Amino acid sequence: MQYVIIDLEATCWKNVMDFTKMEIIEIGAVKLAGDTLEVLGEFSCFVRPVVNPLLSDFCKELTSIRQQDVDAAEIFKVVFPRLLAWIGEDDYKIVTWGNYDIKQFEIDCRRHGIELPEKFITQHINLKKEFAESKQCRPCGMKRALRLLDIPLTGTHHRGIDDARNIARIGQELLK
Ligand code: AMP
Ligand code: MG
Repeated sequence: MQYVIIDLEATCWKNVMDFTKMEIIEIGAVKLAGDTLEVLGEFSCFVRPVVNPLLSDFCKELTSIRQQDVDAAEIFKVVFPRLLAWIGEDDYKIVTWGNYDIKQFEIDCRRHGIELPEKFITQHINLKKEFAESKQCRPCGMKRALRLLDIPLTGTHHRGIDDARNIARIGQELLK
């Protein structure tokens, strides 16, 4: 079994959290061995949004993703099958920080007329919830969880691949 830690970035606007308007612009993922929790590989890909192809200034500032990054990328319909191919045939569990990423996958899959594998729902681990339960605290952001575990935040927060790497480090502590 493998753990696939995934973090998505999406189009966004200040004070708006409307999943139906938002579209995935980056998929970052880290694969961990189910037994040893060692890193087996990484997946990092920008995605070109189709409904609102122009990133807001707010979005560029939050994510540090540039307009040219998404302009040069493939659309979700092309990138998602690549993610699934990278995940491979071995048994896996999807790990995310909170439920947002799965909801956004559901919306983008519907939008592009592709199927979300059932395992993304049935084999999903919400690490934010697991963390809160194990530490007997309220659900918190990834940054706070890292601080509580004394793990330094590496890379740029709100970049999918960096968030996925940081969540993977939390996973290495929690999934032991
Ligand atoms: P994150 O994984 O925390 O970087 O967030 C994933 C996505 O959620 C971002 O790419 C944005 O689309 C959205 N998001 C996160 N924080 C905010 C915020 N403060 N305001 C609006 N959208 C946000
Ligand atoms: Mg993120």
